[in-house]
Amino acid sequence: MQKGEKGQLDRTDATLLLDCSVTRIPGVSAARASALAGMGISTVRDLITHYPRRYLDLTSTATIAEAPIGSTCTIVAEVADVKLKRPKRGLQLTEIALNDGTATLIATFFRQPWLAKKIHVGDRLAVAGKVTFDYGFKRMANPFKEDAGNVQLCGRVLPIHPASEKANQALMRKLLDAALKQIKGVYDPIPSEIRIRHGLLPRYHALRSIHFPTDIAEADRAKETLVYSELLLLELELMQQNEIRNKDKSAVRHVTDGAKLKALRSSLPFTLTSQQDAAIGDMLDAMGSEDIANHMVLGDVGTGKTVVAAHGMAAAADSGGQSMLLAPTEVLAIQHYGTLGSMLSKAGITVQLLTGSTPKQQREQIISDFAAGDTDVLIGTHALLEDDVCAHSLTLAVIDEQQRFGVNQRAKLLDKGAAPDALYLTATPIPRSLALAIFGNLTLSYLTERPMQRAKRTTAVLAKSSKGAAYDKALEELKAGHQVYVICPLIGVDSESRNKLASKGDTEEESYHPDVSIDDLESYTGDNPSSAMQEASFLQEKVFPDYKVGLMHGSLSSDEKAAVMDGFKSGDIDILVSTTVIEVGVDVPNATVMIIEDADRFGLSQLHQLRGRVGRSGLDSYAFLVSASKREEALARLKALESCDDGFKLAEFDLALRREGDILGNRQSGKTALKLVNVIRDKDLIEKAHADAKEIIGSDPFLEKPEHLALAREIRMTFSDSSSAMGG
Ligand code: ADP
Ligand code: MG
Repeated sequence: MQKGEKGQLDRTDATLLLDCSVTRIPGVSAARASALAGMGISTVRDLITHYPRRYLDLTSTATIAEAPIGSTCTIVAEVADVKLKRPKRGLQLTEIALNDGTATLIATFFRQPWLAKKIHVGDRLAVAGKVTFDYGFKRMANPFKEDAGNVQLCGRVLPIHPASEKANQALMRKLLDAALKQIKGVYDPIPSEIRIRHGLLPRYHALRSIHFPTDIAEADRAKETLVYSELLLLELELMQQNEIRNKDKSAVRHVTDGAKLKALRSSLPFTLTSQQDAAIGDMLDAMGSEDIANHMVLGDVGTGKTVVAAHGMAAAADSGGQSMLLAPTEVLAIQHYGTLGSMLSKAGITVQLLTGSTPKQQREQIISDFAAGDTDVLIGTHALLEDDVCAHSLTLAVIDEQQRFGVNQRAKLLDKGAAPDALYLTATPIPRSLALAIFGNLTLSYLTERPMQRAKRTTAVLAKSSKGAAYDKALEELKAGHQVYVICPLIGVDSESRNKLASKGDTEEESYHPDVSIDDLESYTGDNPSSAMQEASFLQEKVFPDYKVGLMHGSLSSDEKAAVMDGFKSGDIDILVSTTVIEVGVDVPNATVMIIEDADRFGLSQLHQLRGRVGRSGLDSYAFLVSASKREEALARLKALESCDDGFKLAEFDLALRREGDILGNRQSGKTALKLVNVIRDKDLIEKAHADAKEIIGSDPFLEKPEHLALAREIRMTFSDSSSAMGG
């Protein structure tokens, strides 16, 4: 690099800017910065990788007569009539009749009464949106509109960025445009030889094109480049970590026929399935070898992965080693502590639990016992990753629901031991070849059959108006002594506003007005104490007065959570109203009905996980997916769950909706390294990136060669958890 050269300096500045605070972008005031922070955007990098969720293709123009009903297009026409209407109190509609000489189109604008004064008969307008047909006319609801002489959005491809109430679509576009200008010249970390080999776009070009494409093909091409980059960086990070981990280390050769393992086996309350036996065999083979084990057990919900892990922990104890089990939620950690704890202690293995809400004094004791080697197994949440949690001799690290964790978190856990074996459990459906491509040197076991799939589980999609059918079934089951889950997804909303939100969702496709923000649906699928609370009291008073309704959500303390779970497990609580905190792993076999509110807000795989909470015993069970959506696609998508019970297949149905962070991790750390990758659709790119990364690491294991410096830096910045924003 020739120092001092102006162009180079600019390029360096543009590159450094990526990791500066987003307030460095013109137009980002303190208020806007906090609105952006609410969406997880704090650095310029976060903003630049805030990719459009989808695009509206407004490029095709048509005459009114020709415009196909149901299509999205741009129409240029003359205003023939303007009317302000008040169909009901509090609702004002501006109806504009447009005529282009071929026919008349009615454009309706909601809640913008001022338009009636601003737009005059005779004006020429361009409107863009979805064409519908009603009451004898072609129509557009809330189309984009512009003076025909000043067309910016109409006739273009419009990116739909995830937005929020405080930072709407229009603002996101404006800020992204400004940010792109600032980072022009940014270094491209991908070695040029690789870029040429795969015909990838230069980085800046790809970034600009994905945010502001001129046509969909351009967006697709940009996406391919960015997907590849995400993958290459992740592969390199994983491989580098492996190199570092394995450098000059040899693993413990675990004893795999010890007394505790035998004791565990003989004290199990059930017979293992042959697949579980095989998985245990594979795992023990890996643990018994002198190489560091990296074993993954993939199995759909309810296939019985936990007991497989228990055998690994017993082998560790037999070998004089300790194990840690990391679970993504407190509920799950508590549950593991309950089930594994009793299984393992029967085999003479000591187990303790550590979570974020373990009281301080108790925590100190647990930590010191574990550090002294007095405890064999420590189960917990992210609390395990704290620096002062040290093992005496960690030889097995187990990560449950591994897709929930980022690569850094995994690395942190593994760092608690000298060279521990790793066991990953996941319900994420990844085909073998892909798993190998993604995770490299893994050994894998698959569990496909559920030990208790004797009974039938019926799934039914219900319109909100037919929800009574679900309550009837629930009552019937309650009478039979069984239990019921009710899942509420939304944040801070009661049922009434939820219905409004849901119907707003229905018109989402149609509300094109750039000043109307399209809410970030993802933010509604989080944990929601208040709506669950309201639902709980509604159900208690109005629907199930003779039964006990309990409430579970993420804001409860761990004691409260444990008390609620115990109450549900013991049958004191008949109906558990919960947010999605119970999504993963929770196990109460007597529950036979699950009612999921606003099911259309979830991905199919997530719904499949959720319904996996019922049908865990010999009892017939029922999952009701309730939706207020009037959108046919939304319901059709849910219908897939009625006929298909295979998580792997559902994942494929779900391609478009799948959030990739769910598969490869980093959801918890908030910084998702993979924002665009879809593991099934991008299979070929994954394999390419894997091969390329292998080649790079093969010749330069620690990325120290000059041509890899940009790459090394990019990886560091992408994966550092603590990449705090610099600058002002
Ligand atoms: P997941 O794979 O979803 O983590 P779990 O490990 O939680 O599944 O197991 C689900 C349920 O099946 C638990 O109640 C567990 O005790 C039970 N289970 C596991 N293996 C068997 C088996 N071989 N026979 C009967 N029940 C089993
Ligand atoms: Mg599990």
